Amino acid sequence: MEVRDLSFSYPCGRQILKDISFTAPAGDFLAILGNNGAGKSTLLKCFDHILRPQSGTVTVEGTDLLTLKPAELARQVAFLAQGAEGARLTVYDTLLLGRKPYMKWGVAPEDRAIVEETLARMELEHLAVRYLDQLSGGERQKVLLARALVQEPKVLLLDEPTSNLDLRNQYEVLDLVRQECRRRQITAVMVIHDLNLALRFCDRFLFLHQGQVLAEGPMSVVTPEHIRAVYGIDASVERIQGTPVVVPRL
Ligand code: ADP
Ligand code: MG
Repeated sequence: MEVRDLSFSYPCGRQILKDISFTAPAGDFLAILGNNGAGKSTLLKCFDHILRPQSGTVTVEGTDLLTLKPAELARQVAFLAQGAEGARLTVYDTLLLGRKPYMKWGVAPEDRAIVEETLARMELEHLAVRYLDQLSGGERQKVLLARALVQEPKVLLLDEPTSNLDLRNQYEVLDLVRQECRRRQITAVMVIHDLNLALRFCDRFLFLHQGQVLAEGPMSVVTPEHIRAVYGIDASVERIQGTPVVVPRL
């Protein structure tokens, strides 16, 4: 996925994103980091046509996403939005709906096969006939992730997917995302506030600050200087059991 010079202003006129550029290889898990109001959700919405950037390109395997029709886009990009709830549907039907971009005259045996295989792989079979609004937050988030995956996207967008989950579910969801990225060579782009979860699961990191890219790259860009610039706190980055951990100094 390659983003070049993407800029966006809301109709009220304030410019939110200025010349955003970055590249994220297939199979990589990218964390978008930044304070509240930095423009992170706006950026993800630009990738999924929810918002139209005024300029810039977003290319995936040579295709400019911004020029695609909705059904074509839905075969390239899946979006797990912030605080997504889902309709009053069973888990099975929720996943089947994820196959809609591929359906011509209705549900094909292949669609059911993909849904059933995904339910099994993500250990969600026991929830298949339950309604989405009767699940716990962790279960629902896994189902919505499964729905995004049956779309077989090349790019998976996640907006704060762990913010309402307990510790175990945070790890499980991010571990699933990372496995699926690798296995299917999907680029995952995730907005997340927990730097330590990001450091544990992601391959690349992008600091968004005042609508611009402050820094982007591998783990080595998560420095005390960038953390101070973005979040306004003093912190050190230490290694604990081989993993970098951000420790604020209060
Ligand atoms: P983040 O996800 O990084 O917290 P957002 O992308 O949601 O930030 O918002 C970035 C900025 O754009 C904020 O200042 C917010 O108030 C503004 N904003 C968000 N949505 C709209 C909208 N629909 N119309 C006008 N301004 C908006
Ligand atoms: Mg947001």
